[in-house]
Amino acid sequence: MTASTKSSVSLNQETLYKALGADLEKVKEAKTYKIEVPIEDEQGGEVTVNGRRVVMLASNNYLGLANHPRIREAARKGLDQYGFGMASVRFICGTQTIHKQLEERLASFLGVEDAILHSSCFAANEAFFTALFSGDLGMSNYRDVIYSDKLNHASIIDGVRLSRIAVKSTDARPYEHNDIKGLTAMLEEDASKDYRIKVIATDGVFSMEGDVAPLPELIALSKKYGALLFVDDSHSTGVLGATGRGTAEHQGVFGQIDVYTGTLGKALGGAAGGYIAGKKELIDYLRQKSRPYTFSNTVPPPIVAAAIEAINLLQEDNSLVAKSRENTAYFRKEIVRLGFTILPGDHPIVPVMLGEAAVAQDMSRVLLEEGVYVRGLWYPVVPKGEARLRVQISAAHTKEQLDRALAAFQKVGKKLSVI
Ligand SMILES: *Cc1c(COP(=O)(O)O)cnc(C)c1O
Repeated sequence: MTASTKSSVSLNQETLYKALGADLEKVKEAKTYKIEVPIEDEQGGEVTVNGRRVVMLASNNYLGLANHPRIREAARKGLDQYGFGMASVRFICGTQTIHKQLEERLASFLGVEDAILHSSCFAANEAFFTALFSGDLGMSNYRDVIYSDKLNHASIIDGVRLSRIAVKSTDARPYEHNDIKGLTAMLEEDASKDYRIKVIATDGVFSMEGDVAPLPELIALSKKYGALLFVDDSHSTGVLGATGRGTAEHQGVFGQIDVYTGTLGKALGGAAGGYIAGKKELIDYLRQKSRPYTFSNTVPPPIVAAAIEAINLLQEDNSLVAKSRENTAYFRKEIVRLGFTILPGDHPIVPVMLGEAAVAQDMSRVLLEEGVYVRGLWYPVVPKGEARLRVQISAAHTKEQLDRALAAFQKVGKKLSVI
């Protein structure tokens, strides 16, 4: 590179901020600029926005635990007994008895041997592959491979990327969404390549579609080809399955998943924190090798205490899971009856399909005016021409709230000629 071309792309503070501003203008022109709408009170079936009560159809608060009296109380007790923070990572002085308890409870809830907390599921996913592949395990000249569903969460995609950069002996094999045939062909093709570690990575439930991964087929493939099956069940733990144990319970294959990751930031209280769960040797290995675990702070005690209570609630009875399911079935049936098109399924994520981005944008804006808080998704988050509103139903919703939301959908849908 010559000196003159170098200086032409060299930005100082002034020109850098200008360039950032110009780039943001382009994002706004493309209508992909994300606007935050501040909520004036706590998360729930209804929230206050601009001084008005609106029905919340956009949160991952599937069981209503984000503001449940028993969760609030558990967090308060956790605060009183164990304090606010630990000012430490886990291995220095950031492990309390409740951290160990929560890890045991999560593992047994998921039907595996052990679990390791991280500050988020994003961090857990970023950590996993790099940590797993970090040692040579007494071998030389090996490569590892990750087969990853193309619609997997951004944190899995970043985890794969990081592993390829940091470990350098990692291959990535993205497969089409839920395409068992394509994945089988890849595994078959790679069978002669003598990979050291093979991982099949999938979301349990996909956040844009609300659809589930075909776990029975993935389990069969993982057994046949000796690949670890990694399932990020963030949208499903506490939600699917008769007792809320997730996608595997839902599909009748509970106990057959090698590795889970998940979040405490959705159904299990909605605060923050994530985990990896699986075999004892694997979790022990990650405790030594995961960089986000080693170099980032421990999960705060009030959150840990509240997460334990969330699991208590789930294990006492399945009434919240049942309520979430009942509300979901009701909303799915009624919104179709009004003439809207949804993606089929039984997850509380209900994508209401609208086609053009402009329609989804108008619809979500007018719905907020009519007392419903729901977010639109459009290209590039979903394919072109598949813009949608992503409705999320919760056990926190009353039937009256759901009916109010449905009435607003009908009114706005007619106004905008969607139905
Ligand atoms: C929400 C989500 C995450 C991120 O979880 P955090 O704990 O908020 O970082 C990761 N994976 C999937 C599949 C998710 O839906």
